[in-house]
Amino acid sequence: MRILISNDDGYLAPGIQALADALAAVADIVVVAPDSNRSGASNSLSLDRPLSVSKAANGFYFVNGTPTDCVHIALTGMLDYRPDLVVSGVNNGQNMGDDTLYSGTVAAATEAYLFGIPAIAFSQVHSGWSEVESAARVARDIVLRHFEILESPFLLNVNIPNLPYDQMGPLTATRLGRRHQAEPVIRGQDPRGREIFWIGAPGACRDAGEGTDFHATSQGRVSITPLQVDLTHREQLESLRGWLK
Ligand code: MN
Repeated sequence: MRILISNDDGYLAPGIQALADALAAVADIVVVAPDSNRSGASNSLSLDRPLSVSKAANGFYFVNGTPTDCVHIALTGMLDYRPDLVVSGVNNGQNMGDDTLYSGTVAAATEAYLFGIPAIAFSQVHSGWSEVESAARVARDIVLRHFEILESPFLLNVNIPNLPYDQMGPLTATRLGRRHQAEPVIRGQDPRGREIFWIGAPGACRDAGEGTDFHATSQGRVSITPLQVDLTHREQLESLRGWLK
């Protein structure tokens, strides 16, 4: 099995190192990841400048671009083979509910899925890298145990509690929850007295009921949500047709 690994926290992040170490034992891996933290990059492609690929001492490739750039480059010419699987992460913090739209971690996996390659995004529920090796072990379990089960291609979003491996709850199929609207922007001043804004925190959980990713992880379980890309609002399609008639 040949696995392409990327992330959005950058090639130096502990999460991608742990994931690469865990998967190198069971597969041929190649790491192509952003040169810096691109969390929140979503599915953006860099179209206004060229991209360069460099190789780090540990063999990881790093790109001066987004997570989507990394996977796109790897799949469209950089690699001389088609990976069997693309994994992303392990991210420094959760990607649940509405987070999945902003996430560069999920985006890297989505890019592979768009090319017809099965893909899995892994995130730890809390940031700070506690129990990151345990999360990487869970990721390896999922890669090994579930790779052949779903119809390919699949796009899975996995959120892993920051727990020791032997205290980790079971793998649980979930749907995305929803958040309230984001917290307000944080207003400040730069050293020259100009007004600046920092994007605020994500909103609190709004739909975190039974069956959601929020609920499963709050119980110490590993949440696995199958994602799709089609954003069409099917119920509104009919009423739109009626309105246009
Ligand atoms: Mn990140």
